[in-house]
Parts: sequence; structure tokens; C-alpha cells
Amino acid sequence: MLIVQKFGGSSVATLERIRNVAERALATQRAGQDVVVVVSAMAGETNRLIGLANALASEGEGQGDRASKGPYLASERAGDRAHERELDQLVSTGENVSAALLAMAIQNAGGRAISLVGHQIGLQTDGTYTNARILGFSHGRIRQELTAGKVVVCAGFQGLNAAGNITTLGRGGSDTSAVALAAALKADACEILTDVDGVYTTDPRVEPRARKIHRITYEEMLELASLGAKVLQIRSVEFAMKFGVPVHVRSSLNDSEGTWIVSEQKSLESAVVTGVALDRNEAKVTLTNVPDVPGTIASIFGALAGADIVVDMIIQNASRGGSTDVTFTVPENDLKKAVAGLRSLDLLPGAGPMEILSDPDICKISIVGVGMRTHAGVASKAFEILARENINIQMVSTSEIKVSVVVHERYGELALRALHAGFGLHEGPTSSAA
Ligand code: ADP
Ligand code: ASP
Ligand code: MG
Repeated sequence: MLIVQKFGGSSVATLERIRNVAERALATQRAGQDVVVVVSAMAGETNRLIGLANALASEGEGQGDRASKGPYLASERAGDRAHERELDQLVSTGENVSAALLAMAIQNAGGRAISLVGHQIGLQTDGTYTNARILGFSHGRIRQELTAGKVVVCAGFQGLNAAGNITTLGRGGSDTSAVALAAALKADACEILTDVDGVYTTDPRVEPRARKIHRITYEEMLELASLGAKVLQIRSVEFAMKFGVPVHVRSSLNDSEGTWIVSEQKSLESAVVTGVALDRNEAKVTLTNVPDVPGTIASIFGALAGADIVVDMIIQNASRGGSTDVTFTVPENDLKKAVAGLRSLDLLPGAGPMEILSDPDICKISIVGVGMRTHAGVASKAFEILARENINIQMVSTSEIKVSVVVHERYGELALRALHAGFGLHEGPTSSAA
């Protein structure tokens, strides 16, 4: 039996917690399992390192301290490859520290352990600094150390590109390191040990009455992660789904059973709505007076794609007098870049000027559940719930298993709570959903 255990930043935040993690890994090994541990940097460390890089950059340009933008990897200098390479060299060090400390803690507790960083396990990625994709890794070293009876502690979040440079996997990327290792090593399970004891119907920090979900399907988890529930990095769920890795999200502080992420056949709970997610990191752009002729929409979204901007929802209005309005959402961090790209577009010589309106003060709330496939009226029920709270809906999009609405940022949490309650997700006795 082989198990991969991933400990997030808060779980290795102090030496005391690192000692606890060491005990936990050793207990798992004593129970007869081979153990591969993947660690994140100690809590706050990745932000601190990004803050240093940003502060240095802003001094050079005389624009004040930009360290507060820490959570966004290189957003200000995106596209500057030399800068991004050094940023990855820098931020990857956080994981090296926690991996080495944990290996020492296991040794101090009488166990055998070795820490390995990305290139020592041959973790290959593509060339995209700060947001690289895993291509593969060589098992040899890990297998060899496991056979020697050691707990193998791997630094998460990092790999090596074909040119031999260190890359990182995007914020929250240690989740993906762990699931990818579990898939490649054909582990029996991948445990994600974190500061919540499972996946909840919504972020328990926003809605304390959120309920722990015992089993959730890969698809639902993928939607929730994509729609703003940051408990797992999106790519880790993609990997788990693709390779059928059973993932168990649970607390690093106690032994209670957490949430299993499984295929649909194995999921017993088939609530119409399984979870609600809030994404604050969206902004809305409206273009008016867009020439209504073939090719215009392609040029607009081609320009955004060319600038590496991921567009989410898109609405095009009916045409009036040869022109139309188009509204779409982009990540808030990309808003300036999107508007600049659109300004430089020359859509149709002779057409009136296109007006660009941008609005960062929006958010997206989504309800997710595989049960929606077989139940009608979920969207209309959601609209009624929001109407009762007097919340205006600006945009809507749906897929087979989700309904998303864009509302003013001010109403985001209210909308989330209302939908959470309205679909019977609150802890305690619930009304039936939909
Ligand atoms: P780690 O440092 O262990 O990787 P994260 O901070 O990345 O932990 O993820 C855990 C956090 O995810 C929780 O503290 C919680 O606030 C947040 N979260 C958001 N949505 C959910 C959800 N639906 N269920 C559980 N936690 C959620
Ligand atoms: N330390 C990295 C981050 O803060 C990776 C991770 O925690 O998963 O994003
Ligand atoms: Mg995380």
C-alpha cells in the first residue's frame, strides 16, 4: 500500500506543527504503508517572497510599494521571461525549507526520511514560468528511497522545464504536485491534509453554517474549484479525474474522516445542489457600438486570447441598426491589460467608435450539483431566491451541472448565504432542495 499525504502551508506553519506532521507520517508508515509526503511552504512564506520581488521591482520604477499585490505571481511583469524565471527560483525556495525541516523532524522522532526537491524527483514541466504544467516525472529515486524504508518528503509546487530551469505550478500548486505523484506512483489514495476537515457546501469562513460533504464527484469538485472554492487547485482535480486517483481532503489536526472525491458511480449523495462558490476575482467589460458583421467577435476575443487573458462569461445582445453590445468577464487582475488590448483594436474602418466600459466591482456566485442534470427549475429557483433578497442579476451562465450569476460585489456574500439556505444546504435539519 502506498499513500501520498500533502500538507498545506498552515499545517507546516510552525516547528510544532512540523513535529505533528512528522508524527502523523510516521504513524501512517507504522501502519504498514509506504508514505510519500508533499509539502507546501510554511504559511505566508510564498506571499513574503513574492512581496520581496514586487517591492524590489517597484523601487526600481519609483511606483511605491507593491508588496500588497503579493498573491499574484508576477502580474505586473507578466511576459518578462527573465523576471519570471528569477521569481520561480525565488518562490520555489519556500517548499525546500519545509521539506528539509520535515525530514529532520521525522529523523528526530526516530524515523527514517529524506527530502527531495523537484529536480531530484525529475519532475518535468512545460516552459510556463509561474504557472507551469506537469509533463511527467521519473519514479526511480522515490521508489529507491521507499524501498530503503524511508518516508520520502517532496517539495511541492515546483518542477524543472526542458531548459533545466526551475518552474512553479501556480498558487496552490502543491495540491497538483501531490495528485500527480499519486497518479504516477499508482498510490492507493492521495490525502490532502489542510486547515479544514473536508470540503464544505461553501467556504466555511464565509458561511459558518456550511456542511461537510462526505463524498463529492470529480466533476462537481472541478466546478467548485474553478468557480472560486480554493480548497483544491483546479489542476489537481483535473489530474485526479483523468487518472482516477481517490482524493481524501481532511484535517491535518485530527483523524476525523474528511471528504472523498470520487467518480460519479461511487458517489452516494446526489443532491440537486451540492455546493455554492463565490469568486471575487472577476471584472466585467461591456463594449457598445460593436459592428454587427462577421469576424468582429473573432477579432475581439482573438486579441484577448493573444494577450493570454482567459474570458469567462460572454453575452452578445440583439443587433440594432447594424451594431450590437457585447459584455464579458475576465479575471480582475487582467482587467487593465484587457482594456488596453481592446483600445488598440481597429475593428472596422468607418464604423462609429466602440465604447469600452469596465467594472471591477462584481463577483460571481455559482451553484453546482450533478443532480441538476435530472432536475428542471434549478436556475429559476436561484433567481427567485435572489429576487427575494432584492439582488440584481447582471449576467447568467449555465452548464449541465452549474448555474452562475454575476452580481454587484457588495451583494456577493448575501447572495451566497441566500442560495446556500434556499437550496437546503445549511447545517442541521434542511428543507428539500429544489
Ligand atoms: P492549504 O494551505 O492547506 O493548501 P488552503 O488555504 O489552500 O489550504 O485551502 C483551505 C481553505 O479553503 C480553507 O481554510 C477554506 O477557507 C477554503 N475553502 C474555500 N471553499 C471551501 C469549501 N467549499 N470547503 C472547504 N474549504 C473551503
Ligand atoms: N506555496 C505555494 C502557494 O502558496 C503552493 C501551495 O501552497 O500549494 O501558493
Ligand atoms: Mg491550498
